[in-house]
Amino acid sequence: MATIIDGKSVSKEIREKLKNVVSGMSGRGVTPGLAAVLIGNNPASETYVSAKAKACAAAGIFSEVIRRDAGVSQTELEDLVGSLNRRTDIDGILVQSPLPSGLDEQKITLIIDPSKDVDGFHPYNVGAVSLGMPAPKPCTPAGILELLHYYGIETSGAEVVVVGRSNIVGRPLANLLSQKSERGNATVTLAHSRTKNLSDVCRRADILIAALGRPGLVTADFVKPGAVVIDVGVNRIEDASRKSGYRLAGDVDFEAVSQIASYITPVPGGVGPMTIAMLLSNTVFLAKRRL
Ligand code: NDP
Repeated sequence: MATIIDGKSVSKEIREKLKNVVSGMSGRGVTPGLAAVLIGNNPASETYVSAKAKACAAAGIFSEVIRRDAGVSQTELEDLVGSLNRRTDIDGILVQSPLPSGLDEQKITLIIDPSKDVDGFHPYNVGAVSLGMPAPKPCTPAGILELLHYYGIETSGAEVVVVGRSNIVGRPLANLLSQKSERGNATVTLAHSRTKNLSDVCRRADILIAALGRPGLVTADFVKPGAVVIDVGVNRIEDASRKSGYRLAGDVDFEAVSQIASYITPVPGGVGPMTIAMLLSNTVFLAKRRL
């Protein structure tokens, strides 16, 4: 039976440490500030943004949630981001994705000042991170590296298969893990929907990372016995027995895979809480330039 990687408690530990750092910074007159822009009323986005704001408050980070309805124009949204770029009390700006159709998400990413790009999505920071330069790393990949490190899982020389090549999870993660760095040095395969014989490719992995958004697609057949399995997927499955009407499921068949893996992340309680911890960490990192 696999060891369960407890992202919730690791995240809590990181947030406690950050709270001390923030308190020291506030004592020197700099309180880190995060602005979260929420457009429309996507229920998952509402949940994420309120969790982020709550975590900020607990760590002593100033946060402001700025809401606009789904009908906001591209120009209005760009003006809003422009005004946040100019605010001296805001160190990090995040625009919660997905944006309603009609809004150009890529253009918004480009408008955020790279020095306030708390998600690490701006091409300037993507470039800097891929060159191993200090810059805010995208939160989910950074959280996964933290989890592996915390549990003493060696990446150097490991065969890693990342399934999913999105710009926010799979691709930056593959990049970081393959870098010549303390938490990298892995031999990485980046798989996607056109990968042939996906289960065979995945079975090569010492560390298998599923970030595809397909509930339960990664079955025991994809996993080499003893492999480490990181499940990034967050999928809402209708469930009439729950008050909310849904339950969360990962991309991995947890019941079966936990029987053969050495370590596994649960959903919820694995990667998700780490993403939030890294968001706070990036906010603090960006605020340090004001000290
Ligand atoms: P995207 O939809 O942007 O990307 C999905 C990737 O998976 C694509 O590269 C796609 O391939 C690939 N893929 C889809 N279906 C298959 C398949 N059947 N076989 C192989 N590859 C496939 O998703 P994201 O990266 O944004 O998110 C992935 C999952 O992670 C989602 O469930 C999301 O909710 C979750 N997530 C969780 C976070 C957390 O904090 N825990 C944070 C961010 C995301 P192709 O490129 O060929 O289309």
